[in-house]
Amino acid sequence: MSEKVFNPFEMAQSQLDEAAELLQLDPAVHELLRWPLRELHVTLPVKMDDGTTRIFHGFRVQYNDSRGPTKGGLRFHSGETIDTVRALAAWMTWKTAVVDIPLGGGKGGVICDPKSLSPGELERLSRAYIRQVGRILGLEKDVPAPDVYTTPQIMAWMADEFAFMQGYNEFGMITGKPLALGGSAGRGDATARGGMYCLREASKALNIDLAGATTAIQGYGNAGSFAHKLGEEFFGLKVVAVSDSRGGIYNPNGLDFKQVSAHKAKTGSVINFPGAQFVTNEELLELDVTVLIPAALENVINEGNAARIKAKFVAELANGPTTPEADRILHDKGAYVIPDFLCNAGGVTVSYFEMVQNAYDYYWEEADVHQRLDKKMTAAFWNVHKMAQERNVHNRLAAYLVAVGRVAEAVRLRGWA
Ligand code: GLU
Repeated sequence: MSEKVFNPFEMAQSQLDEAAELLQLDPAVHELLRWPLRELHVTLPVKMDDGTTRIFHGFRVQYNDSRGPTKGGLRFHSGETIDTVRALAAWMTWKTAVVDIPLGGGKGGVICDPKSLSPGELERLSRAYIRQVGRILGLEKDVPAPDVYTTPQIMAWMADEFAFMQGYNEFGMITGKPLALGGSAGRGDATARGGMYCLREASKALNIDLAGATTAIQGYGNAGSFAHKLGEEFFGLKVVAVSDSRGGIYNPNGLDFKQVSAHKAKTGSVINFPGAQFVTNEELLELDVTVLIPAALENVINEGNAARIKAKFVAELANGPTTPEADRILHDKGAYVIPDFLCNAGGVTVSYFEMVQNAYDYYWEEADVHQRLDKKMTAAFWNVHKMAQERNVHNRLAAYLVAVGRVAEAVRLRGWA
């Protein structure tokens, strides 16, 4: 039997279909929401350090802007496909709606292996992307941000390139910028922080104390590493396993954030951390822990391993880590999943705050950002939690019911369908 190739966009559509049926969505509205409104495919010539020119391919998908300008990150990844970007753009649409910020959903990607590019090549690639995609970007149109393997420095180059195209600075055309260039206080750890606010509320909902709760984190980029830091700070989580693309480490006595992050900064990976045992990324997911935090890529919890997941809480900081089949299995097992586009919405929420500050040209204190983020995340969490109880559905479907209901209302009011 040949294994079916995973297609994230088909997964996003089938998740929507299930919600549309429960919402008894008008068929035209449903069909409209199954597809991106617009997408741009670009070809990018980049001068390499050795004097040759390499051609890269990239995308920007503007999925739905009925509630406001499209918003969403930009990924640099060798495995990027248009269907992955479409799925991620759809999830951004539901994400901005579930936290009720006045934005739509979009996403971008470039097929490349950023680890094999020099800083100069990375800069020229970033600028080349904006030269092609800039014409459809802007504070009022579509606003990118960091995502997998893109950084505040890359956002800075992009903001600079765009400024030259326009003839003036328009910092609000991109978020996740460095503080010196119109960034927002509190944007750096916002994705993980928003997830921790959700986890805090989930522990209240289930009446489970998280002090010392064993935790495994898959992925040690921005979201995963800050989840380690903040999980220790917020609740005293005992993080027993973490991983990155090269594998994972496990120590039943706990892994200290400061030491692990220093090791990763020095060696480029979490693996070979002194005193810890090696685990694969697959083994990490199945560890006997209370909290599991997938913070890497899509499709890691699926039909093949969901029955072996032991965690009580699954806090999804990655986008699309769990397939619909796995959702049902986890729900039947009694695992409490905080679904991706709710759990990781802290990033885009603070991006929205960054846009507001850029538009005003007036900047907030970090404590203000945290407080506003907490308010948004807490309200969204309880909306979804209550919806799940009222409709007797799992949390992801509940999040879809909240989010799709809002987008559908905007679409109807605008007279689109
Ligand atoms: N890339 C992040 C996400 O998937 C943040 C997007 C943004 O800030 O626009 O939510």
